[in-house]
Amino acid sequence: MNAYAHLLSPLDLGFTKLSCRAIMGSMHTRLETLDRPAERVARFYAERARGGAALIITGGFSPNGEGLLEPNGPVLSEHGHLHEHRSVTEAVRQAGGKIALQILHAGRYATHGTSVAPSTLASPINPKAPRRMTAADIERTIEDYATCAALARDAGYDGVEVMASEGYLINEFTALRTNDRSDDWGGSLENRLRLPVEILRRVRAKVGADFIVIYRISSIDLVEGGLTSDEIAVQARAVEAAGATIINQGIGWHEARVPTIAQKVPRGMWTFAARRLKDAVKIPVIASNRISTPDVAERILASGEADLVSMARPWLADPEFIAKTRGGRTDEVNVCIACNQACLDYIFSGRVATCLVNPKAGREIEFDQPLPMVQKRVAVVGAGPAGLACATTAGARGHQVTVFEAQSRIGGQLNLARNVPGKEEFDETIRYWRRLIDKHGISVKTATRPTTDELAQFDEVVIATGVSARHLDIPGVRHPSCVSYVEILSGRASAGKRVAIIGAGGIGFDVAEFLSSPPPDQAMDPRHFLAEWGIDPANTEKGGLIAPATEAPLREIVMLQRKPGRMGRGLGVSTGWILRLMLAKRKVAQMTGVTYRHIDDAGLHITVGTDDKVLPVDTIVICAGQESERGLYDVLAEKGVKAHLIGGAAKAAELDAMRAIDEGMRLAYTF
Ligand code: NAP
Ligand code: SF4
Repeated sequence: MNAYAHLLSPLDLGFTKLSCRAIMGSMHTRLETLDRPAERVARFYAERARGGAALIITGGFSPNGEGLLEPNGPVLSEHGHLHEHRSVTEAVRQAGGKIALQILHAGRYATHGTSVAPSTLASPINPKAPRRMTAADIERTIEDYATCAALARDAGYDGVEVMASEGYLINEFTALRTNDRSDDWGGSLENRLRLPVEILRRVRAKVGADFIVIYRISSIDLVEGGLTSDEIAVQARAVEAAGATIINQGIGWHEARVPTIAQKVPRGMWTFAARRLKDAVKIPVIASNRISTPDVAERILASGEADLVSMARPWLADPEFIAKTRGGRTDEVNVCIACNQACLDYIFSGRVATCLVNPKAGREIEFDQPLPMVQKRVAVVGAGPAGLACATTAGARGHQVTVFEAQSRIGGQLNLARNVPGKEEFDETIRYWRRLIDKHGISVKTATRPTTDELAQFDEVVIATGVSARHLDIPGVRHPSCVSYVEILSGRASAGKRVAIIGAGGIGFDVAEFLSSPPPDQAMDPRHFLAEWGIDPANTEKGGLIAPATEAPLREIVMLQRKPGRMGRGLGVSTGWILRLMLAKRKVAQMTGVTYRHIDDAGLHITVGTDDKVLPVDTIVICAGQESERGLYDVLAEKGVKAHLIGGAAKAAELDAMRAIDEGMRLAYTF
């Protein structure tokens, strides 16, 4: 039996058949907002259809102006733009796929000034208070959903998904947290479910029986005043009876203070709630969130927890996810590492989403370049993210590539990052590169520093020698209590019970987390996750929240920075709050506006404002940024050997794996 027999088996819906059990879930990518005409969107989805996604669900389209998530967000309420939609649906169909349009009314999450909701309560993540919908507004909105679905059918979509989770409008009606009405649309559960039931009925009546209608239900709200598991089961059965074809699992409202998709969330974490949906209804159920590899997907399907799996970010990371699985090439799958850095964080900063491990995502057309006519000999010095992205891309484009790495293994800074709980996901990226190295016959010489004469023999020389930790000149910095983040994260040094961290950039936070967490195998244990975040998997209390477990901190840690003001401003928008909250729970202290005076047996001597203090710590971890390792590049330049300088070796400041990989890949396209 094929190891992925469940994942690869088709699903017959009666009027249509899905080719396998993997759905590409809806994502905000901003592609649909910004790309007119829809050429880039069509290409983006068509590649995923060709790569085996059984059904693609678009980003959310509002059924009317009030429901827009943001000004100028995507809407489908009239025939005007149907030709653009047809170019997308046709491209997907020609690629052998199916596509459904997500209908998303943002309710009180809308960031424009005219949002509407069941009540006037503002959301904690959006200061704009909504207007209370009248009964006439509700009636009109239900019609708008039905019209939107009918337009989607006209535009060639195979179905629609009614977005009823994550705290958007429908969710706001179902939960007492946001619904204080006393009319037919509030109060009893039956009344609160009236909106989704009416929407489903009217959508089904408009689109006919042979059209996929997915209902994305909030399988656990993770907010106070949310629904219980029994109420969610009642809702699932009600929408099934009203005409849903499939139920998709949503998890947590956007305002929930529990991470649902970040690296800190163990893989396959939420299937307990999918299982409950499956027990409640007869129609197929989709499991979602933190399903990132064919193995996790197969395990969920084989265990009967769901009939289908939805992956969203994994399709950004690898558009051929299922094609590779079908072809027995799962070792070639570029796995989403759940970092959110180039997808969600890009969206939050007004950009179009792409992917840290696959910078081509959403920019497919930019990378449409013919293979080179001439095979070149390419030397890449440095096997960190920039070097490996460059080497493997050059190898895939037919060049003869040699990689030189001074360390005994490839991976560079990722080998350090991977030791932080959750960031062991980077192992997948290193595994992926290793596979490409074999596939493209790339020669890798580890523990080797090439000579300039050796490098002069190549047609192209790429210097990706990375960064080294910045040394500080604080008096006493050579005291035995002082160590660098490299020594701590690599395990070459251990920390005492009282720790000061100098520098609070991304690495300072990583070190604080590393030193305050249990070892990764415990930290990433689902039971630990549930306890730490106070989640009741039985969801007997409304919203599924209970008191989080309190644990004595493992160490007394203080983070320090010279700048005044709040720490962690540079952390990712979608993940920074998680880290801050976790460190606060572990009583990690923070001091800003600090001057470092000296270090001695008494500890770290500092001044904060006008106060001189001594921090009596056992260990001082220096996380004060990095400097470029560009010595080899300078020597080559002196000798007249032309070379390309990329990644941290070119610019250490604000270096992250995203920039390194992007630069490496783009350079390889110029050879
Ligand atoms: P960083 O973000 O530049 O932070 C360096 C820290 O060291 C700052 O807090 C800075 O604060 C302090 N510092 C700088 N020079 C100093 C000096 N001479 N003496 C004392 N303190 C000094 O660098 P990083 O933390 O090493 O991170 C490197 C890159 O990796 C960054 O781009 C970062 O965003 C990225 N990264 C991201 C993540 C993530 O979760 N997304 C995780 C790890 C790394 P003051 O100058 O105010 O003291
Ligand atoms: Fe996944 Fe990170 Fe890529 Fe987003 S940027 S799709 S989280 S790997």
